[in-house]
Amino acid sequence: MIEQEVFDLVVAGGGPAGIGAAVAAARNGTRVLLIEKAGYLGGMATDALVPAFCPYSNGEEVVIGGIGLEILEAMKKEGYESPFYDYKPDRMKAFDWVPIDSEILKRVLDEIVIDSGCQVLLHTHVTDITCQDGFVESITVHSKEGSRLIKAKYFADCTGDADLVAMAGGAYEYGDKNGLVQAGTLCFKVANFDTERFMKYANEVGEDGNLNVASKKAKEAGEFLEGEKNVAGIALQADGVAGFNFGHVYDFYPLRASDLTRAEIEARSKIPEMIKFLRKYVPGAEKAVLVTSGPHIGLRESRRIVGEYQLTKQDYNNRMQFEDTIARYAYPIDRHAAKLEEVDHDSDDREYVASKYKNGEYYTIPFRALLPKTIKNLIVAGRTISSDRAMMGSVRVMPACFATGQAAGTAAAICTKNNQEFREINIKSLQENLRKQGSIV
Ligand SMILES: Cc1cc2nc3c(=O)[nH]c(=O)nc-3n(C[C@H](O)[C@H](O)[C@H](O)COP(=O)(O)OP(=O)(O)OC[C@H]3O[C@@H](n4cnc5c(N)ncnc54)[C@H](O)[C@@H]3O)c2cc1C
Repeated sequence: MIEQEVFDLVVAGGGPAGIGAAVAAARNGTRVLLIEKAGYLGGMATDALVPAFCPYSNGEEVVIGGIGLEILEAMKKEGYESPFYDYKPDRMKAFDWVPIDSEILKRVLDEIVIDSGCQVLLHTHVTDITCQDGFVESITVHSKEGSRLIKAKYFADCTGDADLVAMAGGAYEYGDKNGLVQAGTLCFKVANFDTERFMKYANEVGEDGNLNVASKKAKEAGEFLEGEKNVAGIALQADGVAGFNFGHVYDFYPLRASDLTRAEIEARSKIPEMIKFLRKYVPGAEKAVLVTSGPHIGLRESRRIVGEYQLTKQDYNNRMQFEDTIARYAYPIDRHAAKLEEVDHDSDDREYVASKYKNGEYYTIPFRALLPKTIKNLIVAGRTISSDRAMMGSVRVMPACFATGQAAGTAAAICTKNNQEFREINIKSLQENLRKQGSIV
């Protein structure tokens, strides 16, 4: 039941971007409704059990502040202090690759969103949109109650798939030139994991989060999974509990239910083989048991909007400093293969390694990358902002999504106060407001 029918801002999607947008706008006095199709907030972190937050720092200093950092700290405060990555001297341990406790995160997000004054509708799917002369007038949402229309002055598309932009007829790009997107992964958690034994091993071999040494051994014995280079990631979430980002499903269209069905079933069928590998090759995992896999297969990529500015790989390489910057970031270009045949077993993640910045460096994200062409009262945040495919490999990860979300919500609050369009906003006042909220601009 929502308490009012008129909103300044409706945010579609309650992942990192949507949370950033909804909380920032509500704290700035805006009447906000956040709509999420799952029964909890968090997006990929809770709905797909992605096991860790990508770095918040550039190795030297924290580059993502604001609501994203607040959430990280709140989750850590309630959770188990993971010993993970102690052996990686180049990491700012408290901020980089922090393991996610998805149950704690769900509650932290409920609290922060409710405390902001934002209204929330879970179990509600945005299914349609009406537009007039380049303005979104209303959206249709569907739940067990049936369908209904919701009106607002401004809308934020934080669906991870640019659903609203697509429904409104806005321009977008999809995947590579062959229409393929990065593989998906069904993340999972195991219990009965000997954390101490694993840490001892990790420290001895200098093993990184991808378990390269263990994967190589298994490959030599012909016992590694087809289509895998290594384990995409392990994160120790509590004593005895480890989360895995492991196993790829290639060549499916993530916006089609029949393809998603095939991908979910294929991904689940691979888990027993992965557990077998872990038990045999990863010290500490000998008695590991599967506790759960993600409610939803993790999706790395679908649509990217065509916005007023498109971020490119060149911008990444040039460490671009934009005048209308709304965030900084420094994560490398992390692009997973789209097809089984593209998996490069000999590479040590070539593009990722080659694109790594030196400690202390960063690029900036311009406000214009959040503005879809032709639709005036709709703003976009998260992994679907306007970028080329390579750049998306960097901006798609959660800390950056919180930051673009916070900028989108703050912009909506300023526009509400001034009764103006997103394109008319005074960038300096947007940047000033973001800094006041702790964002690093
Ligand atoms: C397997 C995998 C591993 C990853 N590893 C990492 C990692 O280690 N660290 C890291 O920081 N990032 C990682 N990422 C990237 C990161 O998790 C996502 O890119 C990020 O969560 C995107 O945030 P978002 O808010 O844009 O979208 P999402 O997190 O996808 O959130 C979108 C939300 O919108 C909701 N939604 C969608 N459509 C609708 C609709 N029509 N109506 C209502 N609600 C809707 C969804 O249910 C979801 O909750 C990984 C991603 C995957 C898939």
